[in-house]
Amino acid sequence: MPSPETYAEIAPMRRDEPLSQWTTLRIGGNAEMFFEPHRPEKLADLLTALEKDDVPWRMLGAGANTLPPDGGVAGAIIHTGNMRRIFRDGDGLRAWAGATLPSLVHTAHGVGLAGFESLVGVPGHVGGAIAMNAGSADWGIWDEVYNVVLWMPGEREGLKMEEFTPEQIGPKYRDGNLNGAVVLEVHFHLEPQPPKVIKDRQDDILQRKNKSQPVSISSAGCAYKNPPGDSAGRLVEAAGMKGFQVGGAQISELHANFVLNRGGATAADVRSLIAQVEERVESESGIRLERELVIWPEPL
Ligand SMILES: Cc1cc2nc3c(=O)[nH]c(=O)nc-3n(C[C@H](O)[C@H](O)[C@H](O)COP(=O)(O)OP(=O)(O)OC[C@H]3O[C@@H](n4cnc5c(N)ncnc54)[C@H](O)[C@@H]3O)c2cc1C
Repeated sequence: MPSPETYAEIAPMRRDEPLSQWTTLRIGGNAEMFFEPHRPEKLADLLTALEKDDVPWRMLGAGANTLPPDGGVAGAIIHTGNMRRIFRDGDGLRAWAGATLPSLVHTAHGVGLAGFESLVGVPGHVGGAIAMNAGSADWGIWDEVYNVVLWMPGEREGLKMEEFTPEQIGPKYRDGNLNGAVVLEVHFHLEPQPPKVIKDRQDDILQRKNKSQPVSISSAGCAYKNPPGDSAGRLVEAAGMKGFQVGGAQISELHANFVLNRGGATAADVRSLIAQVEERVESESGIRLERELVIWPEPL
């Protein structure tokens, strides 16, 4: 592997960065190299360079749905926090991968463009949200996408950025179906509506979320996807696991699909907790819950 300074010419880099500072669960060991590129082209250049040198890498947005391992991560973590720009573009908005969801919601409302109301109160970056197809039970962020600019895995030569439509990618419920591609930029088509109408809908959704979700405690949102026609939270509650705790990790008393860090939780605590919940739910209901939380493996 070339010296890390080679890559630092492409994007700012820190060594041994604690990932607990970059996840909403406040969990995770150190990243050997932690990059924060400033532009989509630089992100693509960095990925191409790392791929060429066989350096393992992972993308990280706001870390709002990710559990890194306690033992840290070898290789590179690429954080999109420096790529926050949002532009007005034709009928909609164009956002770089690191634009935050709150700023996207705020910008769209400000210019009278409707479509992102369900994202109110959802932490994340645009790239992470596209990877997860973040949204509500019957809506996902891909519903508003006109096209995405992706870096494709396996690109070893030169700068490679390609545009794709939603039809070409085929996103699913809580799954952007990216297959290892990296989101550089997204173009959204949105519907013009009076800002007051948009704001009223946002306020209504936010009020409901604040009542039903543990918004003031560290979590990574929903741990499980809802099975077809059912709710994961209902199944966890019916299995008697509300409030169940392993070390510092706990199933929320308020919303049984949220795993909380009550203080000092480790990735091992969370993994053990959710494995036990899955076993119990399956033995009680016959349904095997599918994880929404992205769990990075412990180093060997
Ligand atoms: C309080 C709270 C409420 C939440 N409410 C909701 C909700 O209502 N609906 C919902 O869907 N989610 C919800 N979530 C979960 C989370 O906010 C979303 O999944 C969000 O989209 C994650 O974005 P992120 O940038 O934090 O992704 P991260 O957690 O950083 O990453 C998630 C995945 O995306 C990958 N990734 C990150 N950036 C890129 C990129 N540029 N290109 C390709 N892959 C990338 C990562 O490698 C990882 O696999 C909630 C979370 C919290 C803490």
